Amino acid sequence: MLTLIKNAEVFAPESLGKCEVLVAGTQIAAIAEQVDVSGQAVTVVDADGAMLVPGFVDSLTHPAGGGGEGGFANRTAEVPAQAFIDAGVTCPVGALGTDGVTRSLEVLFGSVMSLREQGLSAYMYTGSYRLPAVTICGNVVRDLTLLDPVIGVGEVAIADHRGSQPTAQELRRLAADARLGGVVSGKRGTVMLHVGDGEQGLARMREALQDSELPPHSFYPTHCNRRPGLLDEAVAHAQSGGYVDMTVSTTDELIAAGEVPALEALRRVLAAGAPANRVTLSSDAGGSLPLYQDGELRGIQSAAPDSLSALFASVVRAGDEDLPAVLAALTRNPADALGLTRKGRLSTGVDADLLLINRDSGSLAAVMSRGSWLKK
Ligand code: ZN
Repeated sequence: MLTLIKNAEVFAPESLGKCEVLVAGTQIAAIAEQVDVSGQAVTVVDADGAMLVPGFVDSLTHPAGGGGEGGFANRTAEVPAQAFIDAGVTCPVGALGTDGVTRSLEVLFGSVMSLREQGLSAYMYTGSYRLPAVTICGNVVRDLTLLDPVIGVGEVAIADHRGSQPTAQELRRLAADARLGGVVSGKRGTVMLHVGDGEQGLARMREALQDSELPPHSFYPTHCNRRPGLLDEAVAHAQSGGYVDMTVSTTDELIAAGEVPALEALRRVLAAGAPANRVTLSSDAGGSLPLYQDGELRGIQSAAPDSLSALFASVVRAGDEDLPAVLAALTRNPADALGLTRKGRLSTGVDADLLLINRDSGSLAAVMSRGSWLKK
């Protein structure tokens, strides 16, 4: 099963120029100006000058639904595989979120396995907002060790009234458990931190890293663009060797309340000295976005994975200035943050997760996941 994609402008995510990409089975077998396939049966696909980029790695999604704030009626729905495919997300990472009671890790596991059966490389975090962490196998070490899709813990809430107000020692112990489970099973064992509106920001995380043997990348804070002051703390964490995540899905109300739009936040942290390989963008798909009218809660919308493809399309249409940083933040950087070494990049031997993007509109023309076309 060989597929040769010709006449594409390849981004690995760094620009490689016009190249041919040979896919063998589920992997990329070769990338070169001209790939020699003489004597072999090959399906040739003419990309017609389209951009060829890695499939997006979405490091925070709620595929089993989320929300439940403001009552049970505000629970958000499951995110179908097609929504991820249509957004170019080939590698979604699922989390529970606020509600770890009426939503269970077993249900999330089922959603993740369903996404896998439909061709996506889906993963999940164990735990939820609160500590002690809910788990499937009894504790965090066992979940990471025994369950293949579990690659970390999250999203654990800090600086948020809905969280369990964890102490630095609780975070330290959690990260150590995730790390041990990861060491045993060959995973990164990352703790994804939901950072709320609270003034303490990343203080507990910093405290947890001090006086510990844990590397900074043990903690991966998300929603770092929710207020301008948090961006400085994110820069410091990225400079010390951690990864930081910006949430792309938003509403006018959230921006009016002080959230920095993800692209603007990305530009600001890079200008302030954050290393370009340590900043990521995620959709929070399935998470709740409260809708206010005249100051009253009128309902809950849910975030969607297509916030990522819409942002990428706008960057392509705008003429590429932000393209390198945005593409890395959607692909290789989150894969590296989570230790997914075969994801988020195009090179020989990695999984053939790739997107064809229309050069003029920035829209998604085709999606390949582990060597199979899911959209073409
Ligand atoms: Zn969150």
